[in-house]
Amino acid sequence: MNKIKFDTAASCMDPCDFESTPYEQALSEILSQIKTIDGVERLRIRDAMYRVSAEDIKAQQDIPASRNSAMDGYACRHGNLAEKDQISRLNLVGTSAAGHPFFSEIPDGACIRIFTGGVVPDELDTVIMQEDCQVENNWVYTKNSHRMGQHIRNAGEDIAVGELALAKNQLIGTAELGLLASVGCSEVVVRQKPKVAFFSTGDELRAVGETLKPGDVYDSNRYTLFALLKAAHVQPIDLGVVRDDLDQTIAALTVGAQQADVVVTSAGASVGDADCIKQAIESVGELKLWKVAMKPGRPLAFGRFNDTWFFGLPGNPVSVMVTFDKFVRPALRKIRGERTPISTLRMNVRCLNPIFKRRGRLEFQRGILSVNDDGQAVVESTGNQSSGVLSSMSRANCYIVLPAETGNVQEGSMVTVEPFTTNI
Ligand code: AMP
Ligand code: MG
Repeated sequence: MNKIKFDTAASCMDPCDFESTPYEQALSEILSQIKTIDGVERLRIRDAMYRVSAEDIKAQQDIPASRNSAMDGYACRHGNLAEKDQISRLNLVGTSAAGHPFFSEIPDGACIRIFTGGVVPDELDTVIMQEDCQVENNWVYTKNSHRMGQHIRNAGEDIAVGELALAKNQLIGTAELGLLASVGCSEVVVRQKPKVAFFSTGDELRAVGETLKPGDVYDSNRYTLFALLKAAHVQPIDLGVVRDDLDQTIAALTVGAQQADVVVTSAGASVGDADCIKQAIESVGELKLWKVAMKPGRPLAFGRFNDTWFFGLPGNPVSVMVTFDKFVRPALRKIRGERTPISTLRMNVRCLNPIFKRRGRLEFQRGILSVNDDGQAVVESTGNQSSGVLSSMSRANCYIVLPAETGNVQEGSMVTVEPFTTNI
């Protein structure tokens, strides 16, 4: 590990703390240790939404199963159409609508009425939109400007027989649910949903609905974490609030480890007298990593006990969200067996205001990404970047990513942004 140990105690206000691990290194250390849960179950496809498949699903037949029309119109043989720009005259002999194919023979020079999704008989090769035709008695007239094969969807053009409709280790999202149905699959084997226990720590915390005494704060992190876990499609287990007490914290971690695959805590992860998460993890299990060179979110603790992973997140509300996003979410993906790599979309855009930044730590500041009148993407800071200002997360739609070596940013400079995504 590329860490330099200094004797001087590091403070979370230091721009650069030599005991902390660079972000990329911390993430890869965490991901390399975490294992995917073994348990699988067979579910009906609607119940498999946002689960990860544990099997390959191959199409048993072509999708679509037969050649069909992409338009309402008339199906004919291209060879029966007159020279370009000349009028063609075709004899109308039948109809093929979705669910009602036309089975009879179609003589040379004839056509059939066809509707979107209607099967195109083997002997026909072209569909003409109804807007390009005139019909009189049983004759269809059209001016030829038609391409052979137009407006026909080929059998298997979505998924051919034997092709993968859903690969193993794929998250079943909205498109995948429809895809499974499109190949006639009614059940799928998926990995079990990870269980994630979470609790807040802090003597100052009050439940919403209680009256605040001086110095108290409402326990908002437990709500943010609940929402983050729900949005990550795992099963949250709320263990409540634990006071700043080592024994109580150890007891709560132990309960969490018995009940869940992951335990996530907020606060008490720094070096203050009341901060007992690190010590509690060390006495219950094994501390693997502590402190990451990023802002917000330096005092992050990661550890394990048997098969349960601990994430001790910082207490500040913005830090909770950012560290969840940057570490817990990717870890949950791996735990539930989701295929990697998942690349983060980053782009360079012009920043509309100056940004204050001390060199030394990678920062994920909150930004508002938009498109200006010239059609160019631009970003604006949400303002106060204190990690206590949760409203900045609510206003933001992206991070402004400022590398460790970057100092202040001038108005109008190019910066890297990372749009928020919720598609876990
Ligand atoms: P700590 O990490 O314990 O030093 O807490 C850092 C800051 O986050 C303090 O201002 C705490 O009051 C605040 N904080 C800690 N836990 C919560 C919580 N559950 N909800 C809202 N704020 C919190
Ligand atoms: Mg505290």
